[in-house]
Amino acid sequence: MTLVPLPAFADNYIWMLHDGSHAIVVDPGDAQPVFDALARHKLQLAAILVTHHHADHTGGVPALHAATGAPVWGPATERIPEPFTPMAQGDVAEMPGVFELAGGLRFQVIDVPGHTAGHIAYFLPALPSLHALPDSPTAPSQAPLLFCGDTLFSGGCGRLFEGTPAQMLHSLDALAALPGDTQVCCAHEYTLSNLRFALAVEPGNTELSHYNAHCESLRAQGRPTLPSHLATERQINPFLRSREATVLRAVRAHAELAADAAEADVFAALRQWKNDFR
Ligand code: ZN
Ligand code: FE
Repeated sequence: MTLVPLPAFADNYIWMLHDGSHAIVVDPGDAQPVFDALARHKLQLAAILVTHHHADHTGGVPALHAATGAPVWGPATERIPEPFTPMAQGDVAEMPGVFELAGGLRFQVIDVPGHTAGHIAYFLPALPSLHALPDSPTAPSQAPLLFCGDTLFSGGCGRLFEGTPAQMLHSLDALAALPGDTQVCCAHEYTLSNLRFALAVEPGNTELSHYNAHCESLRAQGRPTLPSHLATERQINPFLRSREATVLRAVRAHAELAADAAEADVFAALRQWKNDFR
């Protein structure tokens, strides 16, 4: 099972997961990078997953669907190119016929409103059939995967275009509760600019400094900083840490907050600080 970030536009990643014969893609804002990768690896497109309605995540869907017939899964309450199977919290996108080595794929859908009102994320738990074959070179063990669109970024989170701070905080809490070894597949390479802000919030966070140095060297080599690990994000991402004393203190020093400010107010002030940060 191979996970590949296909660069698109200035800083998007279209995530492709394939087993050498079939592929699924997440948020194909552009069809061409997907067609190129399918041809390069001689793959058949088996499914298209969409997290939210923005054009940089859906623009390639009609062409890919028309050319391959691959079924599309998408957020139940948003308008994305038809036809698609609407998905919401608790639903499972099941692909029994593909990835036979893994016994088929079952993506669990998590509602993550905030960036958009109907944004969803797809979580693929660790694949037991692969873990059962630890010595097989063709079947490496597969950590859980999270495709979170524009909700969680490495070191940051999506802007609140349609949802409230309370909704986004709740959405990020749900993602943060997933297993620590989850590979976080974000839809944009925003990591370095996010980490610049994170360091302004928590200058004394040593894990954060180390992670920043690591990501700077990856980018200097032209490599993606993603996927990230959820355990790392919990240690370095201020938007998963808005209840930590260090982050609370920094937000209070930056913004006027009532002594009894609610968690969502702290989160809102942190998000606003990031919006204004240069
Ligand atoms: Zn978006
Ligand atoms: Fe986007």
